[in-house]
Amino acid sequence: MYKLLKKTGKVRRGEFVTPHGAIQTPVFMNVGTLAAIKGAVSTMDLKEIKCQVELSNTYHLSLRPGDKVVRELGGLHKFMNWDRPILTDSGGFQVFSLSSIRKIKEEGVYFSSHIDGRKIFMGPEESMQIQSNLASTIAMAFDECIPNPSPRDYVEASVARTTRWLERCKIEMDRLNSLDHTINKKQMLFGINQGGIYEDIRIEHAKTISKFNLDGYAIGGLAVGETHEEMYRIIDSVTPHLPQDKPIYLMGVGLPSNILEAVARGVDFFDCVLPARNGRHGHVFTKYGKINLFNAKFQLDSSPIDEGCQCPACRNYSRAYIRHLFKAKEMLAMRLCVLHNLYFYNKLMEDIRNAIDGDYFDEFKSEKLSMWDGRA
Ligand SMILES: [Zn+2]
Repeated sequence: MYKLLKKTGKVRRGEFVTPHGAIQTPVFMNVGTLAAIKGAVSTMDLKEIKCQVELSNTYHLSLRPGDKVVRELGGLHKFMNWDRPILTDSGGFQVFSLSSIRKIKEEGVYFSSHIDGRKIFMGPEESMQIQSNLASTIAMAFDECIPNPSPRDYVEASVARTTRWLERCKIEMDRLNSLDHTINKKQMLFGINQGGIYEDIRIEHAKTISKFNLDGYAIGGLAVGETHEEMYRIIDSVTPHLPQDKPIYLMGVGLPSNILEAVARGVDFFDCVLPARNGRHGHVFTKYGKINLFNAKFQLDSSPIDEGCQCPACRNYSRAYIRHLFKAKEMLAMRLCVLHNLYFYNKLMEDIRNAIDGDYFDEFKSEKLSMWDGRA
């Protein structure tokens, strides 16, 4: 259940109550594709770096170790030892981006596994069944993530099918939640708005899915190659047409500056692989923008990644030491940088929430944007 705690213009401060605890929003979800954050970050670490919600990938987990294995072991929460909320994506995005030889039919998608080429079928019911086996807190509806740009008539047909799939997802989720042996009988379902960069299709679709009375609504199919301005324009046009008493989740976004701009436009939930991926390559976020620790100028730099940062990396180690670890190909380098970057994002969200609570979000946003100066 979403409780709107404060609203200033379009900016929302809320609390989303789930069977695995309350989430303070706006929130950034930390992406652990295969039930682990890449870079040797454990769920014990996640608690230390202020992570509220972990996100795992349905498609990946259904192939390895297999959702039935996870179910046998009591669901994802037990499996990975994480007692806070978990969101699972629908598998749709990976089916469309990773797999080959796919055929999209009314019943679902036929594709080949990216691991062993095995032929697989996934439709709305299969996606719900896998997510129910994983027993995540929030399941995402199965949708088609349309490549950008796509012709208007294709987008129209695809969005109509995504709506029909949503109806099937809802029916299947209700059925699964009513079964005795289901691990999380209170699994929540978020629908996904699509429509490429066509505002009118997006708005019409937002109105249609709003009628499904879901637990939350996502804006999908953005950050796939369109400009930031186009993305902001779509968010601006869609958010007023989604239910205001439910959380709004912008999928796969993004840079810290994108997050500030989207919060300003009424978005509550975010996720992105970017901070972990950047960290694994030595690119770390600081209050003055992003820096690359491979840079020679950090060889003798005894300061932490980001002065004042309270993450485990900055409290204990210098830029020079972490740079050395990267050069020596020590795993610890990645781990420390991923911990720092995720902490940076989680702390940014906490600061955003405090700014909304304290009525200074606009000032906070402009100050951050000018300090990062296009470098974050
Ligand atoms: Zn740090």
